[in-house]
Amino acid sequence: MDDKIDIAELDRKEKEQIEKERLKEVAKGIRAREQEEALRKGRSGKGHKGGYLTFCRFCHREFTIPGIVKCTICGHDTMTESERMDELKTRIEEHK
Ligand SMILES: [Zn+2]
Repeated sequence: MDDKIDIAELDRKEKEQIEKERLKEVAKGIRAREQEEALRKGRSGKGHKGGYLTFCRFCHREFTIPGIVKCTICGHDTMTESERMDELKTRIEEHK
């Protein structure tokens, strides 16, 4: 009789542990999604410091994840870092 109770108790604890692990995974998933979302929104910058993959000249967002061909904020086409650098160089030349 006592054995049965122990097994039931163990069973319950095991289920609790599994549920705890599951919730941890869910929380981890949410955090990862939030981070992904933040990355998708890009960071603000003028695009002259580099270190990004694409840049939106309309709202000055730098995107560090691949595949952002249109700005996730304003919807305009983004440009790559080298395109941006070329444009900056051209503008500096024009000022001379
Ligand atoms: Zn934009």
